[in-house]
Amino acid sequence: GGTGTASTLRQVKLEKESELRIEVANDTPLRLRLLNGTAEIFGTELPPQIWLTFPPHFKFAVFTWYGATIEMDGTTETDYTADETPMVSYVNVHAVLDGRRNQAKASPESSQGPRVIVVGPTDSGKSTLSRMLLSWAAKQGWKPTFVDLDIGQGSITAPGCIAATPIELPIDPVEGISLDMPLVYFYGHTTPSQNVDLYKALVKELAQILERQFTGNAESRASGMVINTMGWIEGVGYELILHAIDTFNANVVLVLGQEKLFSMLRDVLKSKPNVDVLKLQKSGGVVSRSSKFRQKSRSYRIREYFYGIANDLSPHSNIANFSDLFVYRIGGGPQAPRSALPIGADPVANPLRVAPVNIDRDLLHVVLAVSYAQEPDQIVSSNVAGFIYVTDIDLQRRKITYLSPTAGELPSKYLVMGTLTWLET
Ligand code: ADP
Repeated sequence: GGTGTASTLRQVKLEKESELRIEVANDTPLRLRLLNGTAEIFGTELPPQIWLTFPPHFKFAVFTWYGATIEMDGTTETDYTADETPMVSYVNVHAVLDGRRNQAKASPESSQGPRVIVVGPTDSGKSTLSRMLLSWAAKQGWKPTFVDLDIGQGSITAPGCIAATPIELPIDPVEGISLDMPLVYFYGHTTPSQNVDLYKALVKELAQILERQFTGNAESRASGMVINTMGWIEGVGYELILHAIDTFNANVVLVLGQEKLFSMLRDVLKSKPNVDVLKLQKSGGVVSRSSKFRQKSRSYRIREYFYGIANDLSPHSNIANFSDLFVYRIGGGPQAPRSALPIGADPVANPLRVAPVNIDRDLLHVVLAVSYAQEPDQIVSSNVAGFIYVTDIDLQRRKITYLSPTAGELPSKYLVMGTLTWLET
């Protein structure tokens, strides 16, 4: 009391195997705590009594296996209780995966745990299912590797990237995946059609590095991977799903909410007896997001990279000379003139060609990746250290001002540019 606002405290009692689905209001956060019983948010158990604060727009569910009472403080866009969920089928999948991890751990010769890939249309609950499978595994002491191939709505780092990170603890319901040294490759666009060859090349690089890491690490090898994918399932999107299954040697394919995709994958993967294709029901709680919302949440993700989820980070503004930084673009650059090509060759641009970019006003508001490459020709095969955001270009003094999560010199002078931009608000 005493704050001047009316009390909005209320309690919700959840029966066993039901969930409270919540969309936080658009302008105010929501506080929530577990009063009694046990409950989890997307696979991560709630600590008893502790208030958690969820930011505006957040969409989530509090699920209980055995019954719980939840207390909320604040307003929501919607909240309702649902007793029909696919959670039992999801946890059954987890149990099967767990069995395979134990098998892998016990057998000295075949020590590879399950490599799960989650596929389905946008808003079918892929990220959410990936998260649950990872958190349940981590709770049991495994260290599964999360691979996120979704360049549009990735949950590891900024949009436009594919990335991987080991999950050692159940994922924090508010903070999401801890940004502890993920392995990140910068694609630079939010749709794969911009440069399909580059997308494939990066998927291959990422898979190769993980394969190498697994060789030296029996624990993560036995724990396996959970691979989240994009919601693009038609045409080239379908081709990219097959490419990912193949490249990561996935042996469990979970298809969410699409009969047609399931039957197509089951038929085409029949020839691979060690690959299981499973159909899973989409949860009725999954919220459909408009393309405008999706775009907003991309912008929010970039903001989060620099400022933190609760505005708890303070990025540094740095100034560099044009001559200190080297910006490159991959593919799509100016085409070679026909006269410079062998007779009969088409003047198409090489999709993996690395071309220098002149620093000019076009770089304003662009998000650039800081490559670990030692030489420009290693840019496609190198992962990135992080991102900077260009806030000013001074053509007269030839100075560039940028935001970086850390002060001081960048880990490399090679920067990669795509079509990713951001308007700080
Ligand atoms: P996809 O990865 O297939 O695009 P997501 O897993 O990101 O879909 O789900 C879309 C949105 O729905 C997310 O904001 C997610 O938090 C929300 N969501 C998923 N499952 C539930 C649920 N059971 N109750 C409430 N919201 C949910």
